[in-house]
Amino acid sequence: MGDVQGFIKYKKYDFNKESVESRIKHWNEFTIPLPEDELKAQGWIEANPPSFRTGKKIAIVGSGPAGLACADELNKKSHSVTVYEKNEVIGGLLTLGIPNFKLDKNIVQRRVNLMKAEGVEFKTNTEIGKDILLSELLEKYDAIVLSGGAEQPRDLSVEGRNLNGIYFAMEYLTQQNRANMGQTFNGSRISAKDKNVIVIGGGDTGSDCIGTANRQGAKSVTNLELLSKPPIERSNENPWPQWALVERTSTSHEEGCEKIFGVMTKKFTGENGDVKKLHGIELKFGDKDPITGMRPMNQVLGSEFELDADLVLLAMGFTGPVKNKLIGELDIDLDERSNIKTDENRMTNIPGIFAAGDMRRGQSLVVWAINEGREAAKHVDKYITV
Ligand SMILES: Cc1cc2nc3c(=O)[nH]c(=O)nc-3n(C[C@H](O)[C@H](O)[C@H](O)COP(=O)(O)OP(=O)(O)OC[C@H]3O[C@@H](n4cnc5c(N)ncnc54)[C@H](O)[C@@H]3O)c2cc1C
Repeated sequence: MGDVQGFIKYKKYDFNKESVESRIKHWNEFTIPLPEDELKAQGWIEANPPSFRTGKKIAIVGSGPAGLACADELNKKSHSVTVYEKNEVIGGLLTLGIPNFKLDKNIVQRRVNLMKAEGVEFKTNTEIGKDILLSELLEKYDAIVLSGGAEQPRDLSVEGRNLNGIYFAMEYLTQQNRANMGQTFNGSRISAKDKNVIVIGGGDTGSDCIGTANRQGAKSVTNLELLSKPPIERSNENPWPQWALVERTSTSHEEGCEKIFGVMTKKFTGENGDVKKLHGIELKFGDKDPITGMRPMNQVLGSEFELDADLVLLAMGFTGPVKNKLIGELDIDLDERSNIKTDENRMTNIPGIFAAGDMRRGQSLVVWAINEGREAAKHVDKYITV
């Protein structure tokens, strides 16, 4: 996080002044992390606690990159910050979602240790809305920032969904991350070893499931995607700087999986309660509707197929924050995408309660979460210092 920012400043290129072409050309140089001794020499991994405290207290709900970035900024402004986390470990998706083969957890832990040494207080195993009510926090703190992520997974309502062996991607990925930390699961371990694994959903989460399943020794890994196969290069209707609608091949895909595009899952069947087959059908997409921009999706009669399936992982995206008591107790407003709604100052409809990260913008990227955390911190600082 901060280390990469520091690296950008430190290298010969000034990221902010470089042209777009130069940024793309030198991208690898911008993002390769510096070795630890260089970070030390620059003073970037040394604790630098504030010399005084303002007496203002802030509670942050959720310790993912948005919550951590927000806590870090507010602590640097000499406010007293407490981060509440429902899980047993700090870091949100950095620690329990993204696999080790993509992100070394020691880097996250190093930052958390620095923040502790700088005076940020962390309370794990504490779910706000369950262990402590949001209204109780509001009485104790000058401001609260909600950064609980977008944890509600999109489900697949088809026949056979309740068979054993069908899991949400995050049940699988978080368990593997916990196993990497030495935790055990008394017979409830989800393993891909020697299994025919089907990952439904072609995004980053699906890709992480593929990489994990291959590392666990899967017999086969198949990745199903509802949409049709995108082009390898941008089409004329999709110029830069629009998000490139091209086929993305991650290192996990390269390690081995069969990708099938333009298919829909119709049902699962099994034996003795365990999933054994996925039944699907091919889809044909019509021309783009000029008004909605959507392409009608039609099932191709006669294209029904079956796949062997011993482990099915649902990686079809997220539908925003979980709508539980954290949001419900004080009736926090949601936007049209069912994320937490804020005003231009990142404040919710409840005075003193702010929101940041995936909880506010929907499932996104780590860099956006950090940006969101910093932005919320700026507004909180203004709110409590007037
Ligand atoms: C599998 C996967 C892989 C990804 N890979 C990448 C990648 O390679 N690169 C990238 O840039 N982005 C990636 N992302 C996206 C990125 O991880 C998220 O956008 C980012 O972590 C969001 O940060 P956040 O702080 O908003 O939320 P989160 O990281 O989700 O953290 C939210 C935290 O809040 C806690 N919490 C929730 N409710 C409560 C409560 N009531 N009380 C206390 N604590 C609570 C949660 O337990 C969690 O720890 C990936 C996402 C997933 C799911």
